Amino acid sequence: MVNMINIEKTSLIPSWQRELQSAFTNINELLSFLELNVTDLKLYNEAAKNFPLLVTQSYAERMAKSDWNDPLLRQVLPHPDELEKHPDFLSDPVGDNPASVSPGLLHKYHGRILVISTGACAIHCRYCFRREFPYTDNSAHRSQLDSINQYLSNHPDVTEVILSGGDPLTLSDSKLQYLIEELAKQPQVERIRIHTRLPIVLPSRITKKLLDTLSSTSKKIIMVIHSNHPNELSDDVSNVLLSLKTIGVTLLNQTVLLRGVNDNAETLVKLSHRLFNCSTIPYYLHLLDKVTGAMHFDSTMSHADDVYHQIQKKLPGYLVPKLVREEPGKMYKTIIARNS
Ligand code: SF4
Repeated sequence: MVNMINIEKTSLIPSWQRELQSAFTNINELLSFLELNVTDLKLYNEAAKNFPLLVTQSYAERMAKSDWNDPLLRQVLPHPDELEKHPDFLSDPVGDNPASVSPGLLHKYHGRILVISTGACAIHCRYCFRREFPYTDNSAHRSQLDSINQYLSNHPDVTEVILSGGDPLTLSDSKLQYLIEELAKQPQVERIRIHTRLPIVLPSRITKKLLDTLSSTSKKIIMVIHSNHPNELSDDVSNVLLSLKTIGVTLLNQTVLLRGVNDNAETLVKLSHRLFNCSTIPYYLHLLDKVTGAMHFDSTMSHADDVYHQIQKKLPGYLVPKLVREEPGKMYKTIIARNS
């Protein structure tokens, strides 16, 4: 009887949430799955102490077996290099804390506010600039929506709400629907922008219910997916992006330039072409935010400049993302211009 009840309960959980529950959280298990051996995991586990390994099965299946340098693996595997400290690498490299106006609400940019909708993700990206963000005190819970709406009323120039996190698509369908419906009640809000890795790392998250929620709001929905490598864009990912495009979602991509992952022109050119085939426009190529633990992903400015020059020569203008960097306290991204 008990088993019957458990089976019934399990079947009520949407398949994407079950997939999330079975994500890899153990370094040894991930490495075994990838047929990789390491004699001593002590430093890897040490690197994972404050920001544990998390990677979905679906994402891990796109990694090559027996390849330590797989570009997807490098993005998620805690590495002893993370233990190296440097004074230029900080816990809050983009100035989130000074921009916080109330729990879960950041106001950095003119006309846009950012809502930290959750601290949860489906994957832990080792370069994440919020890897040390205090989510427990700074996520927008239902009870805080009133203060967010009040803030909007006091700032009529804000026309866009950015849902960030964590990853907003880890919220259940009902929570996300509630959030979008509440924000949509504000007549001044024209656009709701969702920053998410889930279409990439957990394509099953794009459910019919989610598509219904996104298509039924009167507000324009923009989704910024965060893809860093063409190997991430499997056929499953392409299909869900197409379904989002079909209901009228504007799809943009931002990429972080990551040493040893995508810091070469060939990969970035391939990524732009693949994104376009997946109905998505390459939007930003971000220099790494200098967060503690991510120093091994940093490229020199001259290398970034060189790679960018090469991709400009190889791509049509509409497939060249803007090369940018975030500077704390600035109200816009700094566009890095080239002279030639
Ligand atoms: S999905 Fe986004 S918020 Fe989550 S760890 Fe990756 S970069 Fe950070």
